[in-house]
Formats: sequence, C-alpha cells, structure tokens
Amino acid sequence: MKDTILCPQCGKLANYNSYFGAYFCSECKWEDRSPARRRSARQALLGKFLAGDKMKRSDLKALLRTCEAG
Ligand SMILES: [Zn+2]
Repeated sequence: MKDTILCPQCGKLANYNSYFGAYFCSECKWEDRSPARRRSARQALLGKFLAGDKMKRSDLKALLRTCEAG
C-alpha cells in the first residue's frame, strides 16, 4: 500500500491514514475510503491527466465517476 496518492480534486499528495484505512488530502480535505481496486483505476486516470494527456477536467470528472460506479 502506498503512503501517498494524488488527490483527484487538487492534484496534491494525499496521505494514507492507517487508522481510518483511507487517504486524506490536507490541501482540500478530500478523502478516499474506496477499495484499492477502484482507487488504482482512478489513479491511472489521474496520472494520464496530470501527464498532459489531452483531457479536459470535465472529461476527467466523468471518467472518475465511471470508476466510482465500477
Ligand atoms: Zn486535495
């Protein structure tokens, strides 16, 4: 398990809190308690977005929602 992941809301690092079993972003207060499988799918998407793939922020949000549903 990684200690930090990228926050999908602000792009900063979110730290893993083992007590809660979730990631928290101190920047925007985002938190993630979703299962690891969903989380890694989302991180892959986010990584693409941050790498400068031609993806609009609105598209990213739609894709992230798809991940949540899956
Ligand atoms: Zn954040």
